[in-house]
Amino acid sequence: MVKELQLRVTLKEEEHHDILVIKSAQVLDIDKEDITGVKVLRKSIDARKPKIIFNYKVAVYIREVMPKSSEYQFDYKDVSKAKPIHIIGFGPAGMYAALRCIELGFKPIVLERGKNVQDRRRDLRAINQQHFVNEDSNYCFGEGGAGTYSDGKLYTRSLKRGDVRRIFENLVYHGATDQILVDAHPHIGTNKLPKVVQNIRETILKYGGEVHFETRVTDFVIKNNKIQAIQLNGKDEMPADRVILATGHSARDIFYLLHEKEIALEAKSFAMGVRVEHPQHIIDSIQYHCSGERHELLPAASYSLVQQVNDRGVYSFCMCPGGFIVPAATANGEVVVNGMSPSKRNNLFANSGIVVEIDVNRDLPKYEQFGALKGLEYQKNLERMAFTAGGRSQVAPAQRLTDFVEGKLSADLNPTSYQPGLNSSPLHSLMPKLIGSRLRKGFAAFGQKMKGYYTAEANIVGVESRTSSPVCIPRNERLEHPQIGGLFPCGEGGGYAGGIVSAAMDGERCAEAAIVGL
Ligand SMILES: Cc1cc2nc3c(=O)[nH]c(=O)nc-3n(C[C@H](O)[C@H](O)[C@H](O)COP(=O)(O)OP(=O)(O)OC[C@H]3O[C@@H](n4cnc5c(N)ncnc54)[C@H](O)[C@@H]3O)c2cc1C
Repeated sequence: MVKELQLRVTLKEEEHHDILVIKSAQVLDIDKEDITGVKVLRKSIDARKPKIIFNYKVAVYIREVMPKSSEYQFDYKDVSKAKPIHIIGFGPAGMYAALRCIELGFKPIVLERGKNVQDRRRDLRAINQQHFVNEDSNYCFGEGGAGTYSDGKLYTRSLKRGDVRRIFENLVYHGATDQILVDAHPHIGTNKLPKVVQNIRETILKYGGEVHFETRVTDFVIKNNKIQAIQLNGKDEMPADRVILATGHSARDIFYLLHEKEIALEAKSFAMGVRVEHPQHIIDSIQYHCSGERHELLPAASYSLVQQVNDRGVYSFCMCPGGFIVPAATANGEVVVNGMSPSKRNNLFANSGIVVEIDVNRDLPKYEQFGALKGLEYQKNLERMAFTAGGRSQVAPAQRLTDFVEGKLSADLNPTSYQPGLNSSPLHSLMPKLIGSRLRKGFAAFGQKMKGYYTAEANIVGVESRTSSPVCIPRNERLEHPQIGGLFPCGEGGGYAGGIVSAAMDGERCAEAAIVGL
């Protein structure tokens, strides 16, 4: 017999390794010995009150063997001789489009401008240490896309867009911890993601797909409004009639190329701001109501904040507890920051993007001349400003949080996890008013919501500019570009995803759409 239960476990009780069996036996009023296993289905922490509670949803197996296998099966077939689907970009969208093609009996041919996960590491070191950005291999470009060297947070609000559980099960199949299947806020961690990504590549190769690294798509050959071929690295042409375009929100050359070819694009609203970094113990003490170190059974605390300021949302984005701020630029001459965490989230700092909604229809009148690319040009300007203010390297401009809000240059800065280093800069006057004034009010409001958050011990670091795509590549109900037959805009770059899981789900959907009629 199997019974599902909700259990509430205090921090003290959680220390007991057998607590779920003990509590289940109590609730069901049966002998502990009759319980053959307790499977955790969901786990979350309720820290709203000083008495912290772990909430569990469990399946209790009573005199019955607990099954090990997952209900999900991935039916990969040999597709080496099957019809090809070309996929541009090997981020979450491209990877999951390729895996889905194999399940559906089609051969994915993946073209990725960046390098494999191992070789990519060297280029990340060069950004951090020599401040040199390889424009094909960086924190956004390369095997696994922008998701590889990230926090690997797997929450998504796109529950209606696909089967989230299927993506999680597939990540576990490829080596992610099965803890992601139960945690309310699952994450994988930047130290574990490269192996998962590499295993996905190995599945694709094993079943007859192809993955070509250091292969940048530089042009599309289009005849009679139908895609015929793609140009690689500015020279070779590869015939292709079904192309999934999953190049992410940082592939500006792709947006320019489509724009030049007069292929319809639309400006899309997005958000920009700064990254704020606190010592982790400050966030822990606020969220867990403690004065010293957090209890060893508690993970590094996170937060989620939102405030309306002058008719625009100001909110926390991609919060990384126990993490690092990383240089996420994709070209020299710009400074862009983002965040990542290792699986244990055990670094000394908590960082988060704090961003302001930009409404492209109302906020950028001076950029109208750029048409669909107006948001992109505005984003570029902010990143150039950060490059100049930082000192024309990957050193980022920064300010103490309180100085930013009070409009003062910081005499010195707090320690940081950002490896290239920080330069004290008057971000309060350098940020466009549209963003800067709302951020300052937003931070003051956040200080009211989380006592201790508004502190001189936090830095703000500029700029957090790549939260989502500033451009949308339109598609019709068949997920095909309305003007170009055979072109399937996909994932975050097209404007159809915002994060690892939603990009992966969109990849699957585009694969299903691309094979129709083949
Ligand atoms: C540092 C960092 C941390 C993040 N943390 C999280 C997180 O914790 N959780 C979360 O959900 N999301 C996170 N994100 C966002 C997440 O990574 C993206 O939402 C997701 O990767 C988008 O997937 P995608 O496949 O659409 O695009 P991308 O991941 O951007 O992949 C696009 C791929 O296309 C390739 N490409 C681009 N142009 C070309 C071309 N012309 N030819 C060939 N290949 C090309 C690129 O090299 C890249 O590999 C983070 C992002 C960054 C940068």
